[in-house]
Amino acid sequence: MGVEWVLVCHGLVTLLVVISFLCGQWPIFQGTFVERIHYFLTSGFYDYLLRFVGFLCGSRGTNAILSVEYFCCDRPNPILQLIYVVILGATYYLVVKSSFVYIPGYYLGESHRYISLAAVCVGAVLFLLTSFSDAGTINSENVSHYLSAYPYDNILYSEKECSTCRIPKPARSKHCSICNRCVARFDHHCGWMNNCIGERNNRFFLAFLLWHFFLCVYGTAAIVMILAGRMVDLKVIHILTVYYGIEKSFRSLAPHVVQWLLSSYNTQILLMVFLAIVSLLLAGFFGYHAHLCLTNTTTNETFKWQDYLSWQRKLNEAKISAEALKASISELRKEGKAPVSKWKSFFRRSPLEDAEVVVKTNMYDKGWVRNVGEILHPLSMRQSFRQSKVHNN
Ligand SMILES: [Zn+2]
Ligand SMILES: [Zn+2]
Repeated sequence: MGVEWVLVCHGLVTLLVVISFLCGQWPIFQGTFVERIHYFLTSGFYDYLLRFVGFLCGSRGTNAILSVEYFCCDRPNPILQLIYVVILGATYYLVVKSSFVYIPGYYLGESHRYISLAAVCVGAVLFLLTSFSDAGTINSENVSHYLSAYPYDNILYSEKECSTCRIPKPARSKHCSICNRCVARFDHHCGWMNNCIGERNNRFFLAFLLWHFFLCVYGTAAIVMILAGRMVDLKVIHILTVYYGIEKSFRSLAPHVVQWLLSSYNTQILLMVFLAIVSLLLAGFFGYHAHLCLTNTTTNETFKWQDYLSWQRKLNEAKISAEALKASISELRKEGKAPVSKWKSFFRRSPLEDAEVVVKTNMYDKGWVRNVGEILHPLSMRQSFRQSKVHNN
């Protein structure tokens, strides 16, 4: 097998593993091998490993693995932060080492050497801002402030106290069991940032996702430009058509050009494929979070709404079924009434179809302009709520 096929297979396997790991639980992959790979990568592999270690080393080995899992997944730790720094640094280093020699080139000016460095630095600054800024920690000092900024909707949130922090729990907040603190407008705990994503750092997190998406698109486009420039500089098309007598059409030239690129510029091709895959994933992730931002919902609330809506639907169906049962019993008891024909009752509309449609009434959704405004300038940081705190005191 040629080196180009090894590279193509490598790219496809990487794509499959990354998509299965990140998106395998999505409904469209239900029952497919993508879902099975997702299960294997997220829990199946770990179960086999635990059993294998238990078989070899007994309970001491299993306990050691469980304590590593506890440290990695249930306690704050910088492992994923370090992995991010290594990925960013290694990718930029490989781009510099393999491609800067062709800058300036036919299509790229010298300024791209500095623009790319500046773009990576901005990405790193956004990472630091999201990781080390306050997500909106609630304590006894500032709780009144958050209580006035976030009123209860009495659907998902009602007056409650955090059983760990022993302070009132403002609406939209959640106690993060990893960081052991209550966080305002809690979205999720992000392992990559080793921080919660909450009211105060959601804007940095969104900017981080959007910037890294553009960074990957920029990297992919820059490598495409470099390779296109090399083709022009080395007169590849001219050599192929004049010296090798290949027909001057896209169909005839494309396989030869691809073969030449894969054999001469395999590092750049690998980097380009990697950046393109990551940019697609980041686009999906940013799109999801932008939708949450526009509708003023959090990741935590999407799960709460799902539970609430399915519970309401079941409740309505149970109510309708009970009423239908009651009606049919009283119908049977009525004397002298002609029985309903079997055909008629067969085609009769199911009473469950009359069940009230459950709608999501999110009182925090105030239109996309104000919703975006709340992300950019969090409610608890606004003067009006600061004044209400002073007033309450
Ligand atoms: Zn708490
Ligand atoms: Zn947390």
